[in-house]
Amino acid sequence: MNIQSSTALDAALPQVDATRRRQLIEVTLDSLAELGYVGTTLAQIAARAGVSPGLVAHYFGDKDGLLDAAFRALARRVGHQVRSRLFEADSPRGRIQAVIDGNLAPEEFDQRTGTAWLAFWGQVLQVKSLRRVQSAYQRRTLSNLRSALKQLIPADEARRLAAMIAAMIDGVWLRAALSGWREADSESARALLTAFVDGRLQQLPTAAPKSGRAGERFASVNPATGEVLGYVTAAGAAQVDAAVRTAGRAQAAWGAMTGTERGRVLRRAADILRARNQELAELETRDTGKPIQETRVVDVASGADCFEYFAGLAQSLCGEYIDLGPQAFGYTRREPLGVVAGIGAWNYPLQIACWKAAPALACGNAMIFKPAEITPFTAVKLEEILLEAGAPPGVFQVVQGFADTGRLLTRHPDIRKVSLTGEVGTGKAVMRDAAHTLKHVTLELGGKSPLIVFGDARLDNAVAGALLANFYSSGQVCSNGTRVFVHRSIKQEFLARLVKRVNAMRIGDPMDPETQVGALVSEQHMHKVLSYIERGLAEGARLLTGGMRVTEGALARGCFVAPTVFDNCRDSMAIVREEIFGPVMSVLEFEDEEEVVERANATEFGLAAGVFTNDLTRAHRVIARLQAGTCWINQYNVTPIELPFGGVKLSGLGRENGRAALEHYTQLKSVYVAKGDVDAPY
Ligand code: NDP
Repeated sequence: MNIQSSTALDAALPQVDATRRRQLIEVTLDSLAELGYVGTTLAQIAARAGVSPGLVAHYFGDKDGLLDAAFRALARRVGHQVRSRLFEADSPRGRIQAVIDGNLAPEEFDQRTGTAWLAFWGQVLQVKSLRRVQSAYQRRTLSNLRSALKQLIPADEARRLAAMIAAMIDGVWLRAALSGWREADSESARALLTAFVDGRLQQLPTAAPKSGRAGERFASVNPATGEVLGYVTAAGAAQVDAAVRTAGRAQAAWGAMTGTERGRVLRRAADILRARNQELAELETRDTGKPIQETRVVDVASGADCFEYFAGLAQSLCGEYIDLGPQAFGYTRREPLGVVAGIGAWNYPLQIACWKAAPALACGNAMIFKPAEITPFTAVKLEEILLEAGAPPGVFQVVQGFADTGRLLTRHPDIRKVSLTGEVGTGKAVMRDAAHTLKHVTLELGGKSPLIVFGDARLDNAVAGALLANFYSSGQVCSNGTRVFVHRSIKQEFLARLVKRVNAMRIGDPMDPETQVGALVSEQHMHKVLSYIERGLAEGARLLTGGMRVTEGALARGCFVAPTVFDNCRDSMAIVREEIFGPVMSVLEFEDEEEVVERANATEFGLAAGVFTNDLTRAHRVIARLQAGTCWINQYNVTPIELPFGGVKLSGLGRENGRAALEHYTQLKSVYVAKGDVDAPY
């Protein structure tokens, strides 16, 4: 047999298999529509398809396997309907409509499809594999709705309304199916849902859509005073395209420089950041509401450290030499990805921009960075600083805007990678969008991290750790250890010392160097935090201190919430399960190591974790079992640039900082080099 024809045959086989499987699934749907779940058997389907039962079994195993495949095919079709509409949608309201229209498309309203869905739904509670498909479908619908709604209304309202819309989609469809498609058809069902959504969005008191369409100017406000700090203009497709083109040209030259040359520029950027520390810290404090006491020693300094660290690594970037025997050797080149995008959250605007830009540029990429729309200013300063340091124009550019601008980056065909810092929902949306052009994706997402204090811990250190784990930046730190597990033997003493220190914290004007607790980032976010405090109280947690907005004197104009400690918390409470991103600590009691490890891991997040104990054997044993990407022993929230930072589970993918970051901003090229003659068999 000649090589060509055997390859062609091999390639054709999977094609034949896929077609056969599709045909059998279609026959199964026919059978379900006519005979229902019970009447549909392998023999029945084989007879209808004109094949032997053995062939059906060959493809699907048994009846469960076949029905599972058929249900997946239906669910996939709806998923595809929704995804293609989401991709076309260019506004949050449009994306909500995409979910409605995709789920209630005319294809879902015919007798055959409807009866098959009903047959499956009847079995979902009994058959585990069907339940998995159903729950993936439900989760996807909710998360698509929530992420679009969050851009129109506050997050807690978005969660509620998403659940209502999802329930209505299923309810309208189910009633139509059960009435034999008399009660509604696809068009009237969609019209009903559309009217419902529009009505609810109008009624909601805070349903003010975020502005920020391309070309629109939007204000950034100081959350401590309500003062408008300035305006920026949202970038649309034309600006993003232009930025990508400029970046592409700049990257070609930047990527061709030696690592040492690039490192020199980054090192100068670190020096300029340090020289301008006070000015940048003041700007960051005004934009975020964080106390100057923090921004002066952390935000700018951490950014400068990052540039300094990656300046060094740029010089030592290299591939490998691989010995392949006397006839050949190989080597790898670590090459830049090209133009990459960074999308930042609002809690550490400058630091996040630096943590993304420094490794990206060190590796020879160009970066386009979008800061969060409520904290737009310091990233622009970084662009200035890099230019002053000698980076070619276009190597680092800032585009401003809302999620729509972010989406233009994640979908852009000429951007090779996106690095996002943000919420889990945003991470999923970014990954979905990036999939269309198979971009590399690094995600630094949310958390609900545990801090475990064993009975033998040095108590004052553990209390200090718990304070750092909860109240720095008014609790707006992704890695915060907000679930503080304290051993029963020391809990009362721990709480007494903790509350004393919390009560002594100074809340005030963030620009005052004496202030330790500043404002939350926005009014909307403050209301979210306050609503969690109310939920904690309603669920029976005991408030030890804080628990309210602070409005004394000039603070009345800002978004200040007192550092809050809850005791008597249970693992099932919303304040213990969900990321609040505010100054709210939940204290939980535990008895033994096994129990606390299990409870600490019982979360969908996995960003960080901390352990306080004097028994170092136990410390390492427990840390090894905790499901978290970034851990501390007898310390909390310290993030030296030399150590990789990032999460596991829903807290993210990839790592920032450390040598590990280089993996995420380069690609390997393997080169085979022959030393002898070429020996061909022809
Ligand atoms: P968001 O997820 O709301 O926003 C993050 C960024 O993504 C913003 O610039 C936002 O734009 C943009 N964005 C939103 N939707 C999309 C989309 N569909 N496509 C592309 N870009 C989009 O996070 P927050 O700003 O509210 O930050 C808080 C969150 O960040 C918390 O969950 C926190 O835990 C997490 N975080 C994680 C860190 C980590 O390293 N693991 C560190 C710091 C924070 P816009 O704001 O303009 O809408």
